[in-house]
Amino acid sequence: AAAAEALRTHIRDIHDFPQPGVVFKDITPLLATPAAFSTVVGALSDTAEQLGATVVAGIEARGFLLAAPVADRIGAGIVPIRKQGKLPGRTVAESYALEYGTATLEIHDDAVGPGDRVLIVDDVLATGGTAAAASNLLRHGGAEVLGLAVLMELTFLAGRDRIPSLAVTALLEI
Ligand code: 5GP
Repeated sequence: AAAAEALRTHIRDIHDFPQPGVVFKDITPLLATPAAFSTVVGALSDTAEQLGATVVAGIEARGFLLAAPVADRIGAGIVPIRKQGKLPGRTVAESYALEYGTATLEIHDDAVGPGDRVLIVDDVLATGGTAAAASNLLRHGGAEVLGLAVLMELTFLAGRDRIPSLAVTALLEI
């Protein structure tokens, strides 16, 4: 818990990003601090190991930065879940509502299958729309989705309510 609290000092508020009125939690100072980055990767890896994950799914783009080292630490592979139009092969897509407009995530249609035990890793859980779409894509492929592990949860947005079937692990709550 003390280590988690120390992480907080490496996250900064950026006002009016990506649009006026929003306070964006910027994790780049944490990523750039070796001890903090290592603490985060270690804690997320412990979660992945405890759940028995065999695959780590990373969400573009900041999720990739955490999912890749976690996958390597637990000896799992990594599957990218990307924004529309980025993956080269045949994909399955899922759209979801944002505050203004919609967003679409994609996965390769052969990226996961039955027998895969998947942990989704991202930097932040906000409204839960991204995690819900990611888990739908993974389940569509036949994988077992174990849960979602994030560095930070914005609890006032109640994202967990949107993903009741997922076990959520957050190192920090705001
Ligand atoms: P949600 O779909 O849960 O509303 O939003 C989560 C997604 O948006 C995550 O992929 C996350 O990277 C991004 N996101 C939303 N708000 C923030 C924020 O304040 N800071 C960061 N770093 N990412 C955010």
